[in-house]
Amino acid sequence: MSRHLAMDDTLYDYVVRHSVREHPAQAALRAATAAHPHAGMQIGPDQGQLMALLVKLVGARRCIEIGVFTGYSALSVALALPDDGRLLACDINDAYTAIGQPFWQQAGVAHKIELRLAPAVQTLDAELAAGRAGTVDFAFIDADKTSYAAYCERCLQLLRPGGLIAIDNTLWGGSVARPATTDDTRALQRLNEQLHGDERIDLSLLAIGDGLTLARKR
Ligand code: SAH
Ligand code: CA
Repeated sequence: MSRHLAMDDTLYDYVVRHSVREHPAQAALRAATAAHPHAGMQIGPDQGQLMALLVKLVGARRCIEIGVFTGYSALSVALALPDDGRLLACDINDAYTAIGQPFWQQAGVAHKIELRLAPAVQTLDAELAAGRAGTVDFAFIDADKTSYAAYCERCLQLLRPGGLIAIDNTLWGGSVARPATTDDTRALQRLNEQLHGDERIDLSLLAIGDGLTLARKR
């Protein structure tokens, strides 16, 4: 027997039907994004729920998201935070994030989310310059893949020991396991290799969604 399971649509539907518990605002945001030409960038509801569970497990109050799109992952994290918890949500595209904001309101979590529209490296450097190294509990990295290494380094500095970084798309449609033909694949291959050898973190590469790497700061 193989030690891994090949996921097909039937089995994925089963997983969703037997585990996912979406807030009505999450379902509504998913519906509002479905026809968007880039809807495929949105994380799945099963992954949103995993991230919410992780946020609760680490007892997170201070979170960072890099790559918001229409705000589904941010909504999932914000719903899992205590009322005084905060998510610094980084993106550069106002048209995408504007779609999600009414649903953050609908869910009653908009006060927990601070949207920062600027290149994320700039935002992370500003956080470090403001003396917030070692204060973040949970970070989700899901923006431009060629900047992932830069995001990871900064998030590691911002994280407190025991804090968690979740890095999305680390299997990149399976392409990381084959010779690279794009800069994005090469960047993710290099990142996966670097993370594997990084003694500063505990590590797990999950085959959920498009690959989700969990890195816990030691
Ligand atoms: N987490 C989202 C999907 C993010 S898609 C969800 O689950 O729905 C990737 C996002 O990264 C896009 O919204 C894009 O605008 C943003 N992005 C791209 N380059 C960026 C940069 N340099 N800084 C911040 N955000 C960036
Ligand atoms: Ca993604």
